[in-house]
Amino acid sequence: MTFRPARLPLGLLTLVALASCKPPGDGVIALEGGTLIDGSGRAPVQDAVILVRNGHIQAVARVNEIPVPRGARTVSLIGKTVMPGLVDAHAHVERWAAERYLAWGVTTVRDLGASSTDSSIALKNDLNLGSVLGPRMFTSGAMIDGAPPTYPAATAVRTRADVRKAVDQRAVAGADLVKIYTKVTADLLPPLVDEASTLRFPVAAHLGKIDALTAARAGVASLEHMAGVVQAASRNPGPYLRAHDQFLRGWTLEEAGWALLDSVALERVARGLSATHVAIVPTLVLHEMLSRLDNPTLLSRPGMEDVPSAATSVRDVAGLLRRSGWREGDLQAFRRSRARQNQFVREFKRAGGLVAAGSDAANQLLVPGLSLHEEMSLLVGAGLTPVEAITAATRKGAELLRADSLGELIPGKVADLVVLDANPGTDIAATRRIAFVMIRGRIVHPDSLRRTWAR
Ligand SMILES: [Zn+2]
Repeated sequence: MTFRPARLPLGLLTLVALASCKPPGDGVIALEGGTLIDGSGRAPVQDAVILVRNGHIQAVARVNEIPVPRGARTVSLIGKTVMPGLVDAHAHVERWAAERYLAWGVTTVRDLGASSTDSSIALKNDLNLGSVLGPRMFTSGAMIDGAPPTYPAATAVRTRADVRKAVDQRAVAGADLVKIYTKVTADLLPPLVDEASTLRFPVAAHLGKIDALTAARAGVASLEHMAGVVQAASRNPGPYLRAHDQFLRGWTLEEAGWALLDSVALERVARGLSATHVAIVPTLVLHEMLSRLDNPTLLSRPGMEDVPSAATSVRDVAGLLRRSGWREGDLQAFRRSRARQNQFVREFKRAGGLVAAGSDAANQLLVPGLSLHEEMSLLVGAGLTPVEAITAATRKGAELLRADSLGELIPGKVADLVVLDANPGTDIAATRRIAFVMIRGRIVHPDSLRRTWAR
């Protein structure tokens, strides 16, 4: 083929010339001088520089190790700490909560069924396409439950054919995973996991009528709230399994049952579960709040002002107490269980298991966004280091979502990050001191978000 020089019109030539004059750093944001907690689990690194281009991390180094390209917009992070955008691994996302998550540094949510599959997918599309400002969203769509289902929006399954159909419907609708709820029985689990794995769907399990070891060996990806552990660690699990025929009675018995477990049984189950590679999403903040439903000050604690007065899911504590029939004695039993739940998290981590941080917001007293910070503090209370708790709320959450572009601040990943006015490496409560948040390379300020929703 003969090479002929293209004849460009003069106007176009000028444009080409102008474009070539643009400095190489145009469109680059350089975050300079902060302490970096990169989500990998490594110790914090001081004097870091992060280059962001086209919504992605282009480079990460120490200051002066790499040149900041001319024309880049530089932002000084001196005195600040930067960590990856947070992943809430257990959420029930409501539309009003989208900006709240972002204001609290949560840039990804794993939604485990708030209402119908269609409305979950609609919200996911709005968030992921950017028509609604908020975190990126992965969703299970409506839950799959036994019959009759606990919640009217859930899909009830009775037969093996029902189970395969329910999984297929979610795949067709555009869900990312499958969530099973407390009334699903052990005989339906193998066909469910089989159908889900054909479609490459992880199964998130909030167990009731199946013990955790049986479910993990059948191939579920995650144990939500650590449900099913009491059944697996008890010598006589029958009463727990049967109690889950009735919603909340099963919860009551299981939540109180933790206090009755002994260390040897907890250790055995932690090791057995870790060997299956199942993940746990402990939601210690949910267990903590359930055990303190009688504490009226929680409804007015700092952060609650982010919750609209109409958001009954968070605010209606009285309604939950009425429905559950929980009395002071039940709540005391829940409080006694907390130490064993913490011990289980510790044992599971020691056995090499994957712990991801999730909140269960927007359920009672669980503020979307804030509650994930409370979860990180509780994970530290249970025995994780602050860096491990941050890893649980970043890289481990991304691993659970099989989203390898998220969860770490290293070159090539999506530029979702949180800049803090203090260093959480020594005090985990510092994760709440948010200076600004970046999502897909765009900087958002919590204060201006709060002004928007206050209007
Ligand atoms: Zn939940």
